[in-house]
Amino acid sequence: MADAAAAAPIVVPQRQLFIDGNWRPPRKGAHIPVINPATEQIIGEIPGATSEDVNDAVKAAKKAFLHNKGQHWSRATGEARGKYLRAIADKVTERKLWLAELETLDCGKPIDEAVWDMEDVAACFEYYAGLAEKLDEIQYAPVELPLQNYKSNILKEPIGVVALITPWNYPLLMATWKVAPALAAGCAVILKPSELASVTCLELASIIQEVGIPPGIFNVITGFGPAAGAPLAAHEDVDKVAFTGSTKTGRSIMEMAARITKPVSLELGGKSPLIVFDDADIDTAVEWAMFGAFWTNGQICAATSRLLLQENIAEKFLKKLADWSASIKIGNPLEKGCRLGPVVSESQYTKILKYISTAQAEGASLLCGGKRPDHLKKGYFVGATVLSDVKPWMQIWKEEVFGPVLAVSTFKTEEEALHLANDSPYGLAGAVISKDADRCKRVSEGLQAGIVWINCSQPTFCQTPWGGVKRSGFGRELGEWGLENYLSVKQLTRYISNEPF
Ligand code: NAD
Repeated sequence: MADAAAAAPIVVPQRQLFIDGNWRPPRKGAHIPVINPATEQIIGEIPGATSEDVNDAVKAAKKAFLHNKGQHWSRATGEARGKYLRAIADKVTERKLWLAELETLDCGKPIDEAVWDMEDVAACFEYYAGLAEKLDEIQYAPVELPLQNYKSNILKEPIGVVALITPWNYPLLMATWKVAPALAAGCAVILKPSELASVTCLELASIIQEVGIPPGIFNVITGFGPAAGAPLAAHEDVDKVAFTGSTKTGRSIMEMAARITKPVSLELGGKSPLIVFDDADIDTAVEWAMFGAFWTNGQICAATSRLLLQENIAEKFLKKLADWSASIKIGNPLEKGCRLGPVVSESQYTKILKYISTAQAEGASLLCGGKRPDHLKKGYFVGATVLSDVKPWMQIWKEEVFGPVLAVSTFKTEEEALHLANDSPYGLAGAVISKDADRCKRVSEGLQAGIVWINCSQPTFCQTPWGGVKRSGFGRELGEWGLENYLSVKQLTRYISNEPF
């Protein structure tokens, strides 16, 4: 493999915590190494915040939210806030390549995909700038009442200080899905990115400083989950927690929030099915199956990592799937055209290999992948892996792997396909491929999921709602639903008669 570090002389900026508009070291002075998963080398460090820093950030956010009765931010017009969001989008676009390279170095995703992420980040800030402006138009909307001597209107207000806790698979994009609507709504934000990939989120802080958002309105606390995330989620002065990450952590955040009755929204794990019927175009369906399972190195919450093939096409389909998957370009993620990079960390690498060996021990057949390809001597690379003969009771069918591993099973009838697809505690996404539009409609209605793709897998737009059912969480991000996450609705009711009531 080409040496990823040598291929691109990119230096990871050494940043501190961003609190109250200033960069400052963590009070306890701890730092966490940044490891390039393609080379296993330390390429920088991020601050390791603790509860003392969390307290400082929450204090700054609260002060900024209430400052001058909110005139400068929380009670400013949506149009005024929208200007800042557009300025952020412009700066992200200007620095797209640089940010994408940092993202690739930090989490290992192929550079082409990291560039798409940055384009999506800019588009998301633009989109919420538009919704911030629209918010002004719907303020004081009237409500029809049954009594003439009363009038009611609706005012939408920012919830307050919000804690945004995010994962490492789309470090800047997942943060943006929360930061953009929260700022559009007028909230004060404390972002806690994953300790495994915080570099681009710190760069976002630098952009936000440059565009001049008032100090304290946006803060970034980097650090480990228990040391920095937990005190943030549990803080009395945090009015809402929006979390994306594993179901296990989501549950503990909900417990913390319950203790002081604060709202949470949770975007959690998944084990999403892709159902392919025998009338599908096989080549196209194989492409979607690979994209759905291996994009972003398979580290996607909505990855269609369970493939259900109608029995009579299984043999032909699997032959193609295995051949094509084995030929996916894997290596230095900074090289254009690379399709599979390393997974994010050594512990993820070990965990994924363990899932694969357990699947084999339970009787699944390994068609391709299953290990680091021989031409790569270093880095947390796992070849695109396809496991067939998977049964519903096997661990690989039930649990989220979060790596480039596709588990394949077969079905005879539509009813059986839906039963197998829904037989999971998760319900984030699902997909169906068939030329029969009626069947697609029936299956999409029958899938227990918050997102259903028809004749595709994974396309995501900032205009459409994102989120799951069952153990995949609740609440919706993106679209106008994403903005509602950060607004509270106030009713204003007036008595307008001169008569005594
Ligand atoms: P994780 O739950 O380990 O960590 C997520 C975030 O929570 C990190 O910032 C982490 O530091 C923090 N955290 C960890 N322990 C904490 C605690 N006790 N209190 C407060 N914060 C804590 O998840 P991850 O490994 O970073 O991400 C992978 C998971 O995220 C997968 O399960 C994936 O499906 C899920 N995910 C879901 C979506 C979605 O939209 N539904 C999107 C991306 C990822």
